[in-house]
Amino acid sequence: MIRFFNTLSGKLEPFKPIVEGEVKLYTCGPTVYDFAHIGNFRAYIFEDLLKRFLIFKGYKVTHVMNITDVDDKTIKGANAEKVELQEFTKKYTDAFFEDIQKLYIAKADYYPRATDHIPDMIMIIKGLLEKGYAYKKNGSVYFNISKFPNYGRLSKIDLKELRPGKRIESDEYDKESANDFALWKDKKEGEPFWETEVGPGRPGWHIECSAMSSKYLGQTFDIHCGGVDNIFPHHENEIAQSEAFFGKKFVNYWLHCRHLIVDGEKMSKSKGNFYTLRDLLAKNIDTYGLRFLLLSTHYRKMLNFTFEALEQANSSLKRINDFLYELRNRQFEEGENKDILRLVDEANKKFIAGLDDDLNISIALRALFEMIRKANTLISQGKVRKKDAERLISSVRSFDTVLAVLPEEEEEALSSEIMEKIEEREKARADKNYKLADQIRKELLKKGVILEDTKDGVRWKIVKNKK
Ligand code: AMP
Ligand code: ZN
Repeated sequence: MIRFFNTLSGKLEPFKPIVEGEVKLYTCGPTVYDFAHIGNFRAYIFEDLLKRFLIFKGYKVTHVMNITDVDDKTIKGANAEKVELQEFTKKYTDAFFEDIQKLYIAKADYYPRATDHIPDMIMIIKGLLEKGYAYKKNGSVYFNISKFPNYGRLSKIDLKELRPGKRIESDEYDKESANDFALWKDKKEGEPFWETEVGPGRPGWHIECSAMSSKYLGQTFDIHCGGVDNIFPHHENEIAQSEAFFGKKFVNYWLHCRHLIVDGEKMSKSKGNFYTLRDLLAKNIDTYGLRFLLLSTHYRKMLNFTFEALEQANSSLKRINDFLYELRNRQFEEGENKDILRLVDEANKKFIAGLDDDLNISIALRALFEMIRKANTLISQGKVRKKDAERLISSVRSFDTVLAVLPEEEEEALSSEIMEKIEEREKARADKNYKLADQIRKELLKKGVILEDTKDGVRWKIVKNKK
């Protein structure tokens, strides 16, 4: 039985989907005004782990991630560059899709864009006006939070602090300014606008997620995720809008990851510790290593990014890859050893039990590394047989359907051939036969393998990404 920590109740709760065997999942996506930073990827990778684990457990998952392509930040960015909003957001939307592929994040079933769903938002805004939850003021429409008694339940804000009737325009604000928030913003000089039944203007940020989640997942769905910064005001407002309009519970489980910090501090451009994925790729980091690092701290714990931690992540991964290499390339005798069967079984149980417990990744990874350590000992004692090696490989492979931190199987199978070629090339270089060395490098390139000469020796990479 899976348990999740539900932000709404503040407790660990057994997970029970609305329809048995199916999970409807909504995760707040990027605001496409800049390249995504590694903090954003912490959130997306936590959500990816959640989804992959649910699929591993046999659930059919329908996943929706929105693309915020109209809000205060995107409009400001487009105006600063003096380009149309669409042209501005397209650049960052394309970059987002490239980046998630580089980090082996499985694609969502739907990526609805806010600007494609204005009529869906208007339908809810009109309904909220009709039901008396919203009111018009100077061409804008605001949600009246005093009309929604559950306001503040998710973020646990103190409603006594609120001054009903005061309004807030901006998309993002702190708890101190929890006031009536804008559902629809009046047409303004220098801002894009839509002609609609509630007047000309553009949507506030929060209404898009209420409109798009219900459209693709239903009025009540199972899981909604984001980073902790999304709890207030974004998710609080989503609940108010959706529950007031549909008259039903919006979401059963709210899961939020804590933030990523860098070198113990909040990321900020002025401190020079602000990294997009692109900044790190320019430093030639290994994307599997980065994914492993972002994944390996429990999602409700603060994650501190350092280059040292990235190195550690790389060496952890090397242990797994070396293990697979050994299993594939060593000659094992025919037969099997029941100890291995037991070892695999125990690792599998612990791996699942760890993740069942609110995605406790530390326990899951410990199970994997413990299996590797014990199996390595048995290999060195000559106690592993052919069938055992196959069993161990498929066990690691099965864990990797959840983790997605290892090269694909065909890629891995290529590795022994590549290793031989690399050795041959090293020998040619030592013999100063640079022509042959270069020929080998080109030969590998044709197979999609790139060689990199680093201070720690030659590294290779396949220039193809996991789906
Ligand atoms: P945004 O593009 O700012 O709307 O953020 C996209 C996602 O990244 C949201 O789920 C945020 O909660 C999350 N996020 C933003 N900053 C961080 C951070 N430093 N650590 C973890 N998640 C973050
Ligand atoms: Zn959202």
